[in-house]
Amino acid sequence: MDTTLRELLDSIDPTGELWKCHQCGQCSFICPSYRNGGIRTREVMELTLIGAIDPADDDSIWQCTMCNSCTERCQMGVDPATVINALRNLAASKGNVPDHFLQEAKLFKTTGLSFPITGLTKKMRKEMELEDLEITDSAKDDLEKLIGATRLGDLDLE
Ligand code: SF4
Ligand code: SF4
Repeated sequence: MDTTLRELLDSIDPTGELWKCHQCGQCSFICPSYRNGGIRTREVMELTLIGAIDPADDDSIWQCTMCNSCTERCQMGVDPATVINALRNLAASKGNVPDHFLQEAKLFKTTGLSFPITGLTKKMRKEMELEDLEITDSAKDDLEKLIGATRLGDLDLE
């Protein structure tokens, strides 16, 4: 098994709980992404456990919506959502991040928002008598702390 992948498994699962996975497929059954042709959760679990997944070259992990349904459904107490999240972190450290995620990260880093404020957004906020969205200085400070804590700044966003 790739040593980096092994280290990843050890870090998120020091007591070996993941090996309780008996490949029942309930996590795939409940998964909204799988039902729409996206991530194959059971298969990701299998490939991860046997060390046959390469996060640097796997697109399916980015099709997870992080809804946590798989973890809630698993009767063995296995936590596929955490595994997928860890695989994504490993993928990101190897430069495998879809472009739309990078664009969102870039926007978040500069504005604190994951989506652009469009003219329609402004119009609707006005109609709903909401204030204009402005990032305050204290929010900028919080943003810097978040970026540091999540290592978002490590990503090449240029
Ligand atoms: S993670 Fe849980 S629900 Fe998914 S295949 Fe393994 S035992 Fe079944
Ligand atoms: S967290 Fe991801 S893998 Fe799990 S059910 Fe939701 S979309 Fe599927």
